[in-house]
Amino acid sequence: MSDILSQDWRDRRTFAIISHPDAGKTTLTEKLLLFGGAIALAGAVKGRKAAHHATSDWMKMEQERGISVTSSVMQFPYHGKVINLLDTPGHEDFSEDTYRTLTAVDSALMVIDCAKGVEERTIKLMEVCRLRTTPIFTFVNKLDRDGREPMEILDEIERVLHIQCAPVTWPIGMGRSLKGIYHLARDTVYFYTTGKGGASINHGETVVGLDNPRLDTLLPDIIDDFREEIHFLREVGNPFDHEAYLRGELTPVYFGSAISNFGVEEMLTDFAQLAPPPRPHRTTEREVAPQEEKLTGFVFKIQANMDLKHRDRIAFMRVNSGTFRAGMKLWQVRLGREVKIPDALTFLAAEREHAQEAFAGDIIGIHNHGTIRIGDTFTEGESLQFTGIPDFAPELFRRVQLKDPLKMKALLKGLAQLCEEGATQFFKPLIGSDLILGAIGVLQFEVVQQRLETEYNVKCQFESVAVATARWIEAPNDKALKQFIDKNQANLAHDHYEQLVYIAPSRVNLQLTQERFPDIVFSQTRDHL
Ligand code: GDP
Repeated sequence: MSDILSQDWRDRRTFAIISHPDAGKTTLTEKLLLFGGAIALAGAVKGRKAAHHATSDWMKMEQERGISVTSSVMQFPYHGKVINLLDTPGHEDFSEDTYRTLTAVDSALMVIDCAKGVEERTIKLMEVCRLRTTPIFTFVNKLDRDGREPMEILDEIERVLHIQCAPVTWPIGMGRSLKGIYHLARDTVYFYTTGKGGASINHGETVVGLDNPRLDTLLPDIIDDFREEIHFLREVGNPFDHEAYLRGELTPVYFGSAISNFGVEEMLTDFAQLAPPPRPHRTTEREVAPQEEKLTGFVFKIQANMDLKHRDRIAFMRVNSGTFRAGMKLWQVRLGREVKIPDALTFLAAEREHAQEAFAGDIIGIHNHGTIRIGDTFTEGESLQFTGIPDFAPELFRRVQLKDPLKMKALLKGLAQLCEEGATQFFKPLIGSDLILGAIGVLQFEVVQQRLETEYNVKCQFESVAVATARWIEAPNDKALKQFIDKNQANLAHDHYEQLVYIAPSRVNLQLTQERFPDIVFSQTRDHL
């Protein structure tokens, strides 16, 4: 299959799905893979869904990593394009991983449950997308069930997510009375046939033209009202504007039912056409354009292999320019050294295989024995560093209690490694000898605890600590910095990268400190540089 993949970076469509749990991300992913001809993998996606919230289940699932490493990125050809779908963890405790994955995509697909509308996690993920003005496609799912009025859903998206909606497909009925969808741009009605799409592609009748008399025959009771509705929609709704979509200001909206495989193909076909190819990326030195000949890329995710027999980790690198060829030598900028990449992985969904070639927009997996960090840039020799791969301020904190004090060195080594993989963050207060871990989800702590034990042979416990939130500190000059440090010693720490962090015992305390030191910048994110 790899022979027929386009080798043109402009044909890459690299994206992730953002949604609240249960909106249908897993189901939709499976259907997308079906269209991409990767039926075998579709089952694997379902198999690994983290429906269980108990850590033990999660850990067990992660031990069967064979699946999850390869389904972290799913590549498939579609209509001459190469689609790279980057999976994000199902469990919200790993949302940090999701945030970073969003730095490696060119666009996102937002899935909304038609009965529930815009939910909390979607709001948060949209905020992250907005940091990089990521273009957003919207799929309103579960049309086979009764949901809210379509217009009401659009209003809510616009109001809550501050993005304009351009309806592209529009439902004819909903729930038990679902008849089909109408594609406004193609002026075509796609009829719904009941029953689950399962492994097949669900095709009902297609009727071209809203005025087609065939519709009067098929939908005698409702077609007049529906024509009026569409007439009204064309008058009041936003027309699709490609430029506004690319600027992240407007989202095309599609309706469908992932489980019945209905409305998905119409969306995917437009997505392959309209979603952006790789864009230029900023570095500390200059902007890197995808058409540049020399290879550049950055690491946005590191996945540990929990199978003790295979201790290696996979670093996921997004290619930003040039062509990767198997066996080539790359320059790891941070360490200033050359590394040979003999057996990088690609993620072609139907046939996981070693990468022979990869182009801008593609993701490759590099075997890593602990020398690669999140945020690392690889080039063919040029010294530059991609920016915008952030750490997010943790929301949960624990003090580390070592069971055997003689293991301190191993503990520090383990924590350093886990920090560089993005599994956790750790902070050393300026005063005292505590070690404080930070995370966004509580499961992260459990994973760290287990990995310290199995990989570094260090047993420790985590205790609660009076820290509510953290902010990275920047001062306009040395004098202001010194003054700030002198006054706030008790609430300051260094992170793993020796950056100064304010660890606030409460949000009120943070607010008061910010008011007292207006010159100091308190950041919620820290770039990996
Ligand atoms: P995720 O948590 O976002 O990955 O959601 P899933 O894909 O696992 O879906 C959550 C639940 O909603 C599952 O029980 C699915 O079977 C169901 N579901 C997903 N899509 C649809 C749909 O189009 N219609 C209906 N009725 N149920 C759906």
